[in-house]
Amino acid sequence: MAKKLRNYIGGEWVESSSDSFIPVHNPATCELLAECPDSTYDDVGQAVIAAREAFDEWRRVPVMNRAQYMHRFKTILEDRFEELSRIVVEENGKTIDEARGEVRRGIESVDFATGVPFLMRNDGLEDVSSGIDETTVRQPAGVFAAITPFNFPAMVPLWFLPTAVTCGNTFILKPSPQTPISMEFMYELLDELDLPEGVVNLIHGGKDASMAIMEHPGVTGVSFVGSSPVAKIIYETCTRNGKRVQAQGGAKNYIAVMPDANMEASVKNILGAAYGCAGQRCLAAAVAVGVGDAYDRLHDELVKQASSLKVGYGLEENTQMGTVVSDQAKQRIENMIQKGVEEGAKIVLDGRSVQVEGFDQGSFVGPTILADVTPEMIVAKEEIFGPVLSLMKADSFEEAVDIINKSHYGNAASIFTSNGKYAREFKYQVNAGNIGVNIGVAAPSASFPFGGQKDSFFGDLHGQGSDSIEFYTERKIVIERWV
Ligand code: NAD
Repeated sequence: MAKKLRNYIGGEWVESSSDSFIPVHNPATCELLAECPDSTYDDVGQAVIAAREAFDEWRRVPVMNRAQYMHRFKTILEDRFEELSRIVVEENGKTIDEARGEVRRGIESVDFATGVPFLMRNDGLEDVSSGIDETTVRQPAGVFAAITPFNFPAMVPLWFLPTAVTCGNTFILKPSPQTPISMEFMYELLDELDLPEGVVNLIHGGKDASMAIMEHPGVTGVSFVGSSPVAKIIYETCTRNGKRVQAQGGAKNYIAVMPDANMEASVKNILGAAYGCAGQRCLAAAVAVGVGDAYDRLHDELVKQASSLKVGYGLEENTQMGTVVSDQAKQRIENMIQKGVEEGAKIVLDGRSVQVEGFDQGSFVGPTILADVTPEMIVAKEEIFGPVLSLMKADSFEEAVDIINKSHYGNAASIFTSNGKYAREFKYQVNAGNIGVNIGVAAPSASFPFGGQKDSFFGDLHGQGSDSIEFYTERKIVIERWV
């Protein structure tokens, strides 16, 4: 029988008060892996009480000691690295190498949090007036929560929890009900740290649990990662309820390929960006714009390289592309491909008919290429979130930039070129938060904030890096005179 997942509240594993459960399947084998409770307002209320009660004591734990917990957490994660990576494959469908990459990136965020004693320091100035000194101190702000997506079930929660907690806050995580098992496992590891009860809490569930977090007066702030329509709801609900919020949304990432680019090397890179994690990355390449005579060469090289990708079960080491997350996602992606064809795009590589031996019912979609896409088509504008790359033509660099800047998303954009002038102008002119130059996936490392503009981000302070320290702390200005 599949495991019924539990919440983790106040240092204890507890059953949800809900009698509604969401099934979690392995998208390749269709095996029922677990049943995830659709937690209630009451469950969230219990978690907030536990986190609030823990806060006063936890903020007084010296920051060096708080950081020590993260050093130990990192060691435990390294020891259990492979187990966690395999869980990610089983519940999400990506390949084992992609899962390892994800867990590695997550550990980098834990590493970043060990630097909080340095990062929380602040500045001061003597003699702002005669005999008067002024300093800024940073203090933890209270209870924070994160609401996270299915596509990086191990990594995205680690963008938030380690830094929030090491800054002296207490924390509630609500992972995606599509991929909740990685976090059930991660909280078993957190449990081994013997943190004071209530410092870290886990609430499984969907929309109700999210709403309960956002409406609860005991929650100070919310970090969100997911699709843009939900990010907008999160931003509006949190601000209406007087909370801090950072809401990272969806994407439609463009890649411009100049005629002077090294085509073979560029395509290898673009291929990874378009089909890595079966296109289910907020930094996935969705549209490649070939400038001038780059278009035909890009088209031919892409079709050649993409056709040879091996689609299969993520736990088999030679698999290059796994499944999408669910059958529902497969249907949605295939409908979008059909829409592109109906709009006049030419399907030059069709992943809809892919078959994987031994996994007949798996949610596989093979690499797909739509050529001759134009800016007004739905497939050029809306996020497909699957292994579908659209190809577009532009006559000049300026036209390519114009096409990119018309998108209502602004998560990432890349250029492939060997000309520094184009690279500089691209960085300067393109309205996207993460820019790649000869890099297909422009993913900021843990010490840099994760960019995102327009409908790809709602809020002020982004996740990761120095922004996360700002987000998770309150600044207090102290003005002193001692006579
Ligand atoms: P999603 O928006 O459906 O769900 C994200 C989270 O919000 C989940 O925990 C879900 O339970 C919760 N949720 C869903 N509907 C809700 C509602 N109406 N009210 C409150 N909470 C709700 O996203 P997903 O399908 O899990 O993830 C894929 C999306 O995430 C893609 O759009 C992708 O681009 C985006 N993403 C963005 C980034 C980034 O950094 N910008 C990173 C990863 C993924």
